Amino acid sequence: MSDSKRYTSQLQLNDFDTDSQARLARSHALIVGVGGLGCIAAQLLTIAGVGRLTLVDPDVVELENLHRQILFNEDQVGISKVAAAKERLQRLNSEVRVEAKQQNFIYQLIQDEEFGTPTIILDCADNPEATESSNLFSVMNSVPLITASVYRHEGRISFFNGQGQPCNSCLANSNLGATCEAAGTLGTVPNMMGALQADAALRYLSGYKPPHKNQLVIFDFETLSTSGFSIESDQRCTVCNSTVLESGAVSSYDTLKGRISMDINQMQPTELKAAVDAGEALQIVDVREQDEWDASNLESVGAKHVPMGDVLDRISELDPDAKTVVHCRSGGRSAKVVEALQEKGFADIYNLDGGIHRWIDDIDPSLTKV
Ligand SMILES: [Zn+2]
Repeated sequence: MSDSKRYTSQLQLNDFDTDSQARLARSHALIVGVGGLGCIAAQLLTIAGVGRLTLVDPDVVELENLHRQILFNEDQVGISKVAAAKERLQRLNSEVRVEAKQQNFIYQLIQDEEFGTPTIILDCADNPEATESSNLFSVMNSVPLITASVYRHEGRISFFNGQGQPCNSCLANSNLGATCEAAGTLGTVPNMMGALQADAALRYLSGYKPPHKNQLVIFDFETLSTSGFSIESDQRCTVCNSTVLESGAVSSYDTLKGRISMDINQMQPTELKAAVDAGEALQIVDVREQDEWDASNLESVGAKHVPMGDVLDRISELDPDAKTVVHCRSGGRSAKVVEALQEKGFADIYNLDGGIHRWIDDIDPSLTKV
């Protein structure tokens, strides 16, 4: 460790030693949502020395966020939250590797390999899709999940260890399920709850007094009282109940992931080249990340760049009636986007088989492969 003096205070704890600190340094936390919960959680994990953080959020900083989202400044209004957060976090602790993913965390649009297998997931999202996807990711990859939510003066937190039942879907379907209704809050409430998520994460990751699993704790900040509940396994849960899954029932995971593998139309690079040469009207969409687009792209044949995570947000920029060809590096990400767009009514849509790599191989070897 290059800078252990930084961590002197936590190393003075009786059961927290250099091994605990080293475990933090080896850990990778995936933080879904960089709002009121995610800002404080990410900050506390960063300054405690968690080695790698991946931040996922599609939004930009807004003025109304500043009353609770403590990583952002007035001069960052309008820029990507994950980019602004990354810059701030790296200044807090340059030893920590921070990755910024400006995209929705929706299972249909997630490439598992893009996120690796994190050591822990913090669900700091404020929308049901991202929370459901965080739970699916936790269950399918056996990664522990710390989820929190805020409703007015009430905060909720739960820790699931990602090893079988129950899961957050069991909780959501029980009579203890949280409300999805939007409501105002004092900025203190999400900051307290995000700090509790960070606390549970640090204790789990370091091995220092790990949190209790499968418990819901509700904090009432108006009365300064807490209530604890044991979360029961839902025997009908289609996310985590292996009996339900083995019975052949369609799991939530299959519903989301299986749809991706439905038959989709493939187009070969030679076919695309022929269509371009024939002057056919085409909508070519490159769904790779910005750095991949910058390295090489098909703009010369009319490609438009919309990163995978932005596709649903920017769907109005695309014409559902146009003959559409979607591509990525090698065809995996774009197949998922084709699926998602088919569901949105794009009928004449194709996946570029083999992606830009096969285009480079078959059509234009002058382009750079990244
Ligand atoms: Zn479950």
